[in-house]
Amino acid sequence: MYSERLDKRAFDELRHMEAEVGVVPNADGSARFKIGNTEAIAAVYGPQEVKPKHFERADRGIIICKYDMIPFSVSDRIKPGIDRRDMEISGVITNALSRAVMLEEFPKSMIAINVYITQADAGTRCASLTAASMACADAGLPMRDLVASVAGGKIGDSIVLDLTKDEEDLHEEGATDVPMGFLPSKNEVVLLQLDGKISQEDLKKILAIGKVGADKIYQMEKEALKRRFLDENKS
Ligand code: ADP
Repeated sequence: MYSERLDKRAFDELRHMEAEVGVVPNADGSARFKIGNTEAIAAVYGPQEVKPKHFERADRGIIICKYDMIPFSVSDRIKPGIDRRDMEISGVITNALSRAVMLEEFPKSMIAINVYITQADAGTRCASLTAASMACADAGLPMRDLVASVAGGKIGDSIVLDLTKDEEDLHEEGATDVPMGFLPSKNEVVLLQLDGKISQEDLKKILAIGKVGADKIYQMEKEALKRRFLDENKS
């Protein structure tokens, strides 16, 4: 039984969020997205020449994304460098963003994205995807939609939104984690993963709760971009 969340949130409640764009002056586009104690900073460079050259596609551009958790992002210092988990997360962010950015407009080019986790308390791939998507929009890349991403899951008998690390670790309750990414205005899912076991019926409930959460994240993303645009017009 998981009748009350560890941090007292409602089961469908997101953690407190902060979103801003234009946080890395030397990048073509950048963003910071914080949800609870998880924070991602994304920087976008390009479109630029493809390196290494053999990755080049004649008909479309490519995205190369690198996800990294900085050593002080968790309480035990992380060994610096890219491990298998970082590579997997870089891959899922690349795949999801490739559905959002209109890559057909940039043949023979690449868009390089670096995402750093400065603080980790679960949901880092989702926060990274949200930040990277805002950074792409900040870089002025043509997009079908922004990506809004959040994890849902099941703990005990309860369907929950936006799990913390402590919740993910409730193994005796059989915690299941489902990271999701949406193109909200297109009603498309661009990221769906599963860590644990879930019935089809519960997965549908998690997707439904995730979509409602993603719509709120989407509003934050749009507001951050609007603020940036208004500030630029002022100066
Ligand atoms: P996500 O962050 O997307 O939920 P994982 O399920 O792989 O991805 O990781 C869950 C959480 O575990 C992370 O958000 C982070 O809080 C913690 N974590 C991941 N890697 C490490 C690590 N090397 N050291 C300490 N904590 C970690």
